[in-house]
This record gives sequence, C-alpha cells and structure tokens, in this order.
Amino acid sequence: MNFEASRAKALDKLNYFVENNLLEYSKLRNFDFGPKNRSNISCLSPYITHGVINEKEVIKKSLSKFSFSKNEKFIQEVLWRTYWKGWLELRPNVWTDYLIELNKIKEDFKNSQNYKNATAGKTKIECFNDWVIELKENNYLHNHTRMWFASIWIFTLELPWQLGAEFFMQHLYDGDAASNTLGWRWVAGVQTQGKHYLASEWNIKKFTNNKYNNIKLNENAPPKISEKTYSIIKQDFNNRNIVDGNLLIFENSLSFENSDFQETKFKKIFIILNKNENRSIKLSEKVIKFKSILIDDQKQRLKDKSIDCEVIDIGEIKNLGQELIALYPTVGENLDYLNLNNLKLDFLYRKLDQYSWKYCNKGFFNFKNYIPKIISTLN
Ligand SMILES: Cc1cc2nc3c(=O)[nH]c(=O)nc-3n(C[C@H](O)[C@H](O)[C@H](O)COP(=O)(O)OP(=O)(O)OC[C@H]3O[C@@H](n4cnc5c(N)ncnc54)[C@H](O)[C@@H]3O)c2cc1C
Repeated sequence: MNFEASRAKALDKLNYFVENNLLEYSKLRNFDFGPKNRSNISCLSPYITHGVINEKEVIKKSLSKFSFSKNEKFIQEVLWRTYWKGWLELRPNVWTDYLIELNKIKEDFKNSQNYKNATAGKTKIECFNDWVIELKENNYLHNHTRMWFASIWIFTLELPWQLGAEFFMQHLYDGDAASNTLGWRWVAGVQTQGKHYLASEWNIKKFTNNKYNNIKLNENAPPKISEKTYSIIKQDFNNRNIVDGNLLIFENSLSFENSDFQETKFKKIFIILNKNENRSIKLSEKVIKFKSILIDDQKQRLKDKSIDCEVIDIGEIKNLGQELIALYPTVGENLDYLNLNNLKLDFLYRKLDQYSWKYCNKGFFNFKNYIPKIISTLN
C-alpha cells in the first residue's frame, strides 16, 4: 500500500481506478484481499479527507466513464462521507461529548492489560492482531475490516468504542471526526439506537478469501446502550459577502485552486498546520508527517499559480489580526481550536455541503433519495 502525499498522485490513483476497476466495484468492494491487492476499491479516502481531491471531482470522473445507474453504488459510497459530515454538523455535541467521554475512559483504562494487548496486536484473535499491525504500518484499513475490527473491539474484547475510535484516529491517514466517530457509534449500536454490527466468523472467512479460520468471536452480544439523544441544532451555512481579506485553509481543504472559491481574490492565503500540541487526540508521527507533506504540496501548487501564500502553525492565527475568512474546517479538532480560543472567522461553505447537509436530518436511506438531485447541482 502506498499513499504518496500529493495531488498529482491522488489524481493518478483516481484515473487508474476509474479506467480499470470501477466497473467491478459494486461486486467486489466488500472483499479485503489484503494490503497488496487493493484494486477492488479506490483507496482515495486519505486524499478526499484532506480535500486534496474532492467528492465532486471523483463523482464527475466516474460519470465520465459510466452512467449513473452503472455507478450508483460508488457514488453512494462517496456521498456517505458528505452525509456523515452533515449529520455531525447538525449535531456537533456528539463530537464534543465523545471527547469528554474519551478523556474519562482513558483514565479508567490506563492500566488495563486488555486494552494494552489490543493496541499492541497481542490478543488471542489472529486476524485482529494482523489488522493492528496493518493499521500501524499502512495507516489504512479496508472498510469491511474497519467494521470487523470495531465489532471485535467492542463485543469480543469488550473495550469501549471511544478508545477504539481514538486508536483509529491516531493511525489512519484518512482519520476524520465525522466518518470515524459515527462509524464506531454505528458499529456499537448507539448511532442507530439498538442496531449494532456483529462481526461473524463466516463473514470474515468469506470476505478475506478464506485467509482466516477458526475465529472465536462473541456473535451474540447485545447492542451498546446510550441514554443520550441528540436533537438537531439549526445551523446557518450561508456564505457572507467576501471582502478582500486573508484566507485560511485548514487540513480538510487542500486544493484551493479546484474549490468553489478559486476565482475569488484574497490578499494572502495562510495554510494552517495543526500539530499535536493543539489536538485532543494525539496523532502518530506518520499521520502528522502525511498532513504536513500534503500542506507543502498545496503551498507549491499555489506558488506555481503566483498566489501569495504561507504555511503557519494554528497557534499563529491569533496574530493575523481582524477580518479573517476561512474555508470551513468542519466539526473536529481545528474548529475546536478556533472556538476554544474565541477566534471568530467568517466561514466559506462548499456548495456541495450547503446543498447536501440539509438532507442529513434523518438516516442515510432517506439521504440516498436525494443523491440524483445533489448530483444535478454539481455543475
Ligand atoms: C469504524 C469505521 C471507522 C471509519 N473511519 C473513517 C475515517 O476516519 N475516515 C474516513 O474517510 N472513512 C472512515 N470510514 C469509512 C470507510 O471505511 C473509508 O472511507 C473507506 O474504507 C476508504 O477506503 P476507499 O477510499 O478505498 O473507499 P471506496 O470504497 O473506494 O469508497 C470511495 C470513497 O467513498 C467514501 N466512503 C466509502 N465508504 C464510506 C463510509 N462507510 N463512510 C464514509 N465515507 C465512505 C470515502 O471517501 C472513499 O474514499 C470508517 C468506517 C468505519 C466502519
């Protein structure tokens, strides 16, 4: 597995996948053939998470090859991300509560041998141990494997989902507050209350092509229960009138020259690096390095277009003065930093998000009905 940190490599990956493997995606996508054979899926998430390429580009490219009906499954998956994002935007307390719970649980589990064995890949479950190593080495896991992993973590190893979500965030190149937190909540059974995901021996066997046998799992555990419910907080995702100010770009929007705002003139662009000092969840060195190279790549592409830009640490924002505009960082660590430090910026929201997030009030099955409508707005 190789995730080279540049837009050029991301585009190569997208083009290769669409030309060669998209046709069979819906048939093969659930198989995890191992890190040496990932041709059945796109492996684009580390790039899309960072906005190095965006959903619109990915969907448009796929539609240039096949019709919507041939492509529907892939497009649905691409828009799952947009859906999870919107769902969390409407209920941001799910994220803040998660961090509060995590802090407490971390203290409770700091001496737990069970937890230490899990994160070291030293459990009695061979496949799980392999995936821990794979996650640390490749900083990526297949979607089906993420589901199995989370399910084993929660229901067989009986560890809190909050710790598992933290472990993923620390090591995934595509770590994302929405997809990750809500993915773990979904497996545990607290996202769709009472509905959990139970990994089973036959399913793992089948979708790893019989790589694993004799997997002893708790296949009868009940879903986790949470008393907390979250009602929707009405939000305004409108863009203010853009004045000729300085623009901030966070780690989720690293392709300004392909964004909705590419034609707008800003005095200067600041690309914000957020290292571990200002994060609640401390990321592995490899993940921080990946982000930092992607940021440098964005800077170089802006320089090539003679756009004045500079990379600064998140701690320096407060020195930049008034009238700052930012591409919206979305619910997560960067927005937390701004809120915590009372930094008031004018946010610019992407058209895709403005249009899609209003359909994130209910479940994904409802959202799916709006996908053709959403796609028709991409032009
Ligand atoms: C417990 C758990 C944690 C997860 N954590 C993250 C995370 O931190 N960051 C992240 O980007 N994804 C996360 N996912 C979603 C999904 O596993 C990855 O996006 C996917 O595996 C990426 O591989 P790919 O690019 O080859 O996907 P493909 O199958 O090729 O799909 C194409 C694109 O669609 C989007 N996508 C596909 N499946 C999902 C999904 N279930 N949810 C949201 N978007 C999806 C991604 O942008 C992906 O790049 C998580 C899933 C689970 C079950």
